[in-house]
Amino acid sequence: MFKRTLRQLSAMNSIVFLLIFMVFGTVIYGFVSYRLFDKVDDAMRFKAYNIRIVNGRIAPPGRNRFLFDPRILILLRDNQGRIVNMPNNEDIDVERLVELVTQIPPEHILTKEIEDHAYRMINIPYRYEERVLMTDRGPIPIDSIIAISIVDSEVASLKDLLIIIASGLVMGMLIIILAGYYLARRAMVPIQASWEKQQQFVADASHELRTPLAVIKSNAELMLRHPEHTVEEESIRVTNVVREVRRMTKLVTDLLTLARSDVNQTELKLEPVNMGEIIDTVAEQFVPLAEMDGLMLQAEASQELELTADRERLHQLLVILLDNAIKYTPSPGNIKITGGRQGSNIVVTVEDTGQGIPTEDLPRVFDRFYRSDKARSREKGGTGLGLAIANWIVEMHGGKIGVESKLGSGTRFSVTLPAKKVT
Ligand code: ADP
Repeated sequence: MFKRTLRQLSAMNSIVFLLIFMVFGTVIYGFVSYRLFDKVDDAMRFKAYNIRIVNGRIAPPGRNRFLFDPRILILLRDNQGRIVNMPNNEDIDVERLVELVTQIPPEHILTKEIEDHAYRMINIPYRYEERVLMTDRGPIPIDSIIAISIVDSEVASLKDLLIIIASGLVMGMLIIILAGYYLARRAMVPIQASWEKQQQFVADASHELRTPLAVIKSNAELMLRHPEHTVEEESIRVTNVVREVRRMTKLVTDLLTLARSDVNQTELKLEPVNMGEIIDTVAEQFVPLAEMDGLMLQAEASQELELTADRERLHQLLVILLDNAIKYTPSPGNIKITGGRQGSNIVVTVEDTGQGIPTEDLPRVFDRFYRSDKARSREKGGTGLGLAIANWIVEMHGGKIGVESKLGSGTRFSVTLPAKKVT
């Protein structure tokens, strides 16, 4: 799927470049050609306009004769399109030239190559009143004047330019195909990675949901085998079903939280909050739970920890961290939650004297569904999504979460949040 997109992207890049280059090349070519021929056209018009019949003869050019370009040949045409003054030039194929010339409509300009030369021609209607020219063949009324100029150097320059543009196009095309492919590939790397991550997430989620569903199904089927049994007799199976339903409910809630976070659908309800108060509240809720597991929970928080944040989300963050500390600390053990200031930041730490996390697992504990201790996580109803949600909450608040751990002696999570001034 990505290979096709990559090819399409590279092809699109190349086509866009080709179009831009072609427009650019055409503009340059048109401009240079206009500049080159403009002067020639002016000189031809000037010379043609100055041809005048006086007393049946062509009048001398007068004061402007020095301005006339000697390269320009003037032909006079009668009202039937015939050339009156056939030139006698061995260098030019006069016949063909004349044939061409008779095809040019009035006020039109034409560039043609005949043999080895390029000619530019213009047809201008004769505009003076006296138009009858006395020739050897008698009086002939002149209808139009044709000026012809050799434009070999101009045409050669244009050809050179065309070659430069064409080779630039070919080289540019090659470069853009290679560069486009390379850039497209680089651009695809994060897209591909996030796609694969998403696929993995869906696969993991389905897998996680299958286990409780299988447990519920098998327990329900076992109960169906003995319809005569009382609820009390089937209490173990009923308990299993309830436990798995709870696990699934938690899993689905967590999945929903993360799915919403992925599409940025969750908005923070920002308000002035005191982190010290939140720490105390959460710690109070967890003290009995910790005691039940034979653990000591201690909270040490300054009461001056004001920041603008989402109270519910911060509460959820501390619940995740304390819940984990209790889950992964065997009795007897200690858990400590602290809150303090560090410069303009608020730092919350949750420390335990539990089993710890192997060093190689540390970078991955914030990944979705990553569990360092799979068995204990499942046994304690973990979903593998807690720390991923914690990480997201911290990021949404512009903060950072870190973990330090020593296998067998304990783990310490620290959360740093910017303490924005409450206005
Ligand atoms: P879970 O629901 O499995 O606890 P989490 O995302 O909250 O998922 O944590 C990911 C993994 O990180 C856990 O499975 C566990 O192996 C490890 N872990 C998290 N907190 C602790 C802790 N305080 N002590 C030891 N291991 C921990």
